[in-house]
Amino acid sequence: CGIVGYIGNNDSKEILLKGLEKLEYRGYDSAGIAAMNQEGVHIFKEKGRIAKLREIVDEKVEASTGIGHTRWATHGVPSQINAHPHQSTTSRFTLVHNGVIENYSILKREHLQDVQLKSDTDTEIIVQVIEKFVKEGLEVEEAFRQTLLILKGSYAIALLDEQNPDMIYVAKNKSPLLVGLGDGSFNVIASDAMAMLQVTDQYVEIMDKEMVFVERETVTIKDLKGNVIERAPYKAELDA
Ligand code: GLU
Repeated sequence: CGIVGYIGNNDSKEILLKGLEKLEYRGYDSAGIAAMNQEGVHIFKEKGRIAKLREIVDEKVEASTGIGHTRWATHGVPSQINAHPHQSTTSRFTLVHNGVIENYSILKREHLQDVQLKSDTDTEIIVQVIEKFVKEGLEVEEAFRQTLLILKGSYAIALLDEQNPDMIYVAKNKSPLLVGLGDGSFNVIASDAMAMLQVTDQYVEIMDKEMVFVERETVTIKDLKGNVIERAPYKAELDA
């Protein structure tokens, strides 16, 4: 299973699909991408191979921001509905997740009594809780932070907010995720540097319980208290 993401000035779809193909070796049962432009977020997801996902991705949708996912089901059967990305009730927020949210049924009971869930995944709880916190009045960054503070388990997460097409929200705990630095006009994320070597060999590590705000020209890492963290990139070695 794995995650990729791209924010830049080119179309994201092919970069994401190529990235997901590089992650196929990790194993998966479903795959999906979310492509975001000024009109909104377009979701393409399927049970089965990435070749099948390729067939359903609409060529006409141009989107310079996107996230992609291969799923290894832990909660909910492998199916189109349970495949990632998952969206909040209003569709404002879109999220991909690798890992397992151990306290998802507690979070559901405490925060989502009045929310009609669309899938059987532990993952959907995350995106619904974020939307709930935003509806209660929190800024998106604060809603993201508060949600991360109550999650128990493992996660690599990438989140899109339809109202902010200039950012990918990222976080991790006990599941792998890296940020790849572009030439100043784009940035990427990936579970494994190999997935995005097609566009960059400069990577920044993300530590557990950090959140990262990835924009076209900047990457901001913060701890869960909100303090900014500086970290130098390293060069990923190409396979011989
Ligand atoms: N627990 C999530 C699910 O079952 C994510 C699984 C994964 O890491 O792909 O959908």
